[in-house]
Amino acid sequence: MNTYDVAVIGSGPGGYVAAIRCAQLGMKTAIIEKYSTLGGTCLNVGCIPSKALLDSSHHYEDAIKHFSDHGIDIPGEVKVNLEKMIARKQAVVDQTTGGIDFLMKKNNIDVYQGLGSFKDATHITIKGDESTEIEAKHSIIATGSKPSNLPFITLDKERVITSTEALKLKEIPKHMIVIGGGVIGLELGQVYRRLGAEVTVVEYMDRIIAGMDAGLSKELNKVFKKAKFKMNTSHKVKSVERIGDEVVVKADNKKGEEVEFRGDYCLVSVGRRPYTDGLNAGAAGVNINDRGQVEVNDHLQTSASNIYAIGDVIKGAMLAHKAEEEGVFVAETIAGQKPHIDYNLIPGVVYTWPEVAAVGKTEEELKEAGVAYKTGQFPMRALGRSRASMDLDGFVKILADANTDEILGVHMIGARAADLIAEAVVAMEYRASAEDISRMSHAHPTFAEAVKEAALAATEDRALHI
Ligand code: FAD
Repeated sequence: MNTYDVAVIGSGPGGYVAAIRCAQLGMKTAIIEKYSTLGGTCLNVGCIPSKALLDSSHHYEDAIKHFSDHGIDIPGEVKVNLEKMIARKQAVVDQTTGGIDFLMKKNNIDVYQGLGSFKDATHITIKGDESTEIEAKHSIIATGSKPSNLPFITLDKERVITSTEALKLKEIPKHMIVIGGGVIGLELGQVYRRLGAEVTVVEYMDRIIAGMDAGLSKELNKVFKKAKFKMNTSHKVKSVERIGDEVVVKADNKKGEEVEFRGDYCLVSVGRRPYTDGLNAGAAGVNINDRGQVEVNDHLQTSASNIYAIGDVIKGAMLAHKAEEEGVFVAETIAGQKPHIDYNLIPGVVYTWPEVAAVGKTEEELKEAGVAYKTGQFPMRALGRSRASMDLDGFVKILADANTDEILGVHMIGARAADLIAEAVVAMEYRASAEDISRMSHAHPTFAEAVKEAALAATEDRALHI
């Protein structure tokens, strides 16, 4: 039987990063993955393929809507070749997951393909084509998550689908009904809206991207409405029925009246649930809470002291980079180091266009906590860079402590916000004040100037270009 210092179960961004860091720290490491490719949800059916389709559909939208403004005339009709678009997405996925194979080899990590199941706290059975057993001094559970569903919805995966099927449709829907106005629903909704589908969003809460600052929700809602999405917030879906090639969704609106939506596809994007099926956690003494999450303490250690858990399968934001941080954290903890994660500084991003990104506290959270804060906001449309590229929507908002000027939260929506948020993370990691950012030179013309201007606005209302 092969024995290891560490066995990692699950090869998503949490698991494979944990395995690499363990190997870097000199531990003999194995990784177990039940699918034939490494990379987990993120690389196979999450972050990477969704971004590939967002990019392709963005190009198409530019070609049909914006090229002529730039003086680019296309003779003839611009058409979508969905099959090719999906094939390109798959090629990107294959290349990226292949990269993880390379990284495993490079770091001398043994890869086992099969379902990892605990026999006890130090033995794992791997059920693949053949059954194998390994021994591991420490284990890291990184088994991730699966799409969740509402109890009354039957996902037939043809017309009533999850994000996984939405990434490989064979036709462009005529009318896609998206249940859930969160990150995944809006990103994939935008893909198909750009490709020509009518898209209706049905959201239970009174706003989309409800976990983010209300100002961001409002601005994104405005942009989506301009793009002729049908936005229905405060709607409680109560039934989804497939009739032939049609899907009928019934919901109660704010007034309690029944509203009916009819489309040819229904994307159910109501969140994700932690996944521990087949893990046999109990045999190792690992507790799972009533939300299905593996229970961990502040060291991400489970109820079995030699077993840790990270990523979507534990509490906290379901984000690839959060899982990665936790992977490194646990590897270093096992190696006897004292790592630290500041969960307040894990940025949240929506990769629609305009992109939405945030870090730190929202205004709602600061109000609730009774913190005195000041706000500096700057609109993207006031930037030369935005006018040059015609990306005028959005703003950057900086929230700073009213007394100390320390930045407490940064919320932005606009072109390349996903990349711009990194500046805010760095600033907050070093506990910068709004004035610190306002006194740093930002290259001109860039979208990043909006961060400086918002910081100036937060510092005695000193924005220069508005
Ligand atoms: P996962 O990536 O879910 O990996 C878990 C792995 O464990 C899987 O491969 C699974 O097969 C394997 N596994 C499970 N049980 C066993 C077992 N018993 N034995 C062996 N293997 C097992 N996050 C972002 O940060 N940015 C984004 O842009 C983004 N976009 C997304 C888009 C979509 C459509 C979706 C669905 C998700 C997106 N996410 C995004 C979320 C992101 O994918 C997850 O947060 C991330 O993948 C979690 O990583 P993980 O390592 O915890 O688990």
